[in-house]
Amino acid sequence: MENTDFLNIAEKLSKPLQILITTHTNPDGDAIGSSLALSFYLKKKNHTVQVMAPDPFPDFLAWMPGHEDILIFSKDKSECIRAIERADLIIAADFNNFSRLNEAAVLVRQSKAVKVLIDHHLFASDEFDYKISISRISSTSELVYNFIEAMGDLILLDKNIAECIYAGIITDTGSLSYACNYVNTYMIIAELIRLGIDGEHLHRLIYDTYSESRLRLLGYSISDQLVVLPDYHTAFITLSSADLLKFNHQIGDTEGVVNYALSIKDINLAALFMERDGVVKISFRSKGNFSVDSFAREHFNGGGHRNASGANCETSLEDTVLKFRQILPLYQSKLKSVYS
Ligand code: 5GP
Ligand code: MN
Repeated sequence: MENTDFLNIAEKLSKPLQILITTHTNPDGDAIGSSLALSFYLKKKNHTVQVMAPDPFPDFLAWMPGHEDILIFSKDKSECIRAIERADLIIAADFNNFSRLNEAAVLVRQSKAVKVLIDHHLFASDEFDYKISISRISSTSELVYNFIEAMGDLILLDKNIAECIYAGIITDTGSLSYACNYVNTYMIIAELIRLGIDGEHLHRLIYDTYSESRLRLLGYSISDQLVVLPDYHTAFITLSSADLLKFNHQIGDTEGVVNYALSIKDINLAALFMERDGVVKISFRSKGNFSVDSFAREHFNGGGHRNASGANCETSLEDTVLKFRQILPLYQSKLKSVYS
């Protein structure tokens, strides 16, 4: 189901507003990139704009233009509450259900502001007044580019906006390796380069800035914690809170770890189970037509995209992994032939 309320949103934005852009918990490159790109654009359209995230973003995004002005709900609570109360219009970027705002969800839901969704996940909830929700697109950052284009404002694009959109597309596609088999994605990247960004340099800032402990955590995850189940074409990695502590885990350090499990030949489903802040955070990845969105939704109250999804479970790490292992036989034949 696609929603493209461009005209209604354009009409709402036709006078200066107080706008709050909020993105989801555990914000990634696309969450921060799309929010900041939108913020730069809407400021140029004479709106007053504040960006908020429920919790901190990883250090490897701390080069992004405008990142220092982002309010973090878990750290700047009173300022965030004021920003929510002040807003005439709230934009949800890169997620599709206010529950992914954690503690801020209730305040945002209560707000009288007009609520707009800009997102590329499957199955947007009904709690938005207007939606731009297209799942067949690389990233919310790409959608922000399309939004600016639909508003007739490509002339307002600048290097800051271009850098943010680039970071969002690159991080949500594994450096243009998945979810981007679209001409438009590459046309936009070309346009961003034309606007003066240094793609190679930005890529290095995102991917070649590991700490030693992050790299060692990756090594440990693969050499000690990887379980391969050839009968189910499945591989998974488990990290306890003690493991994370041992490797001085910082936010963002496990980003991408699950992809190594999926990189094994004939492995079509990969998972990372991570014990963090009293819950088990799961990342699912898949190849071909095996939908980890449905899988996460049906069994773990999560969701996301067909080939990348996630969930948060209140059960113990052992019980969560046990449940996962017990479900696999139900999917044995589907996991065998994901390209048919
Ligand atoms: P990641 O594994 O990178 O944290 O998340 C992969 C995808 O799943 C992202 O698109 C993310 O938005 C989505 N996702 C992650 N965790 C959850 C969750 O707890 N609930 C839902 N509905 N989606 C999630
Ligand atoms: Mn995204």
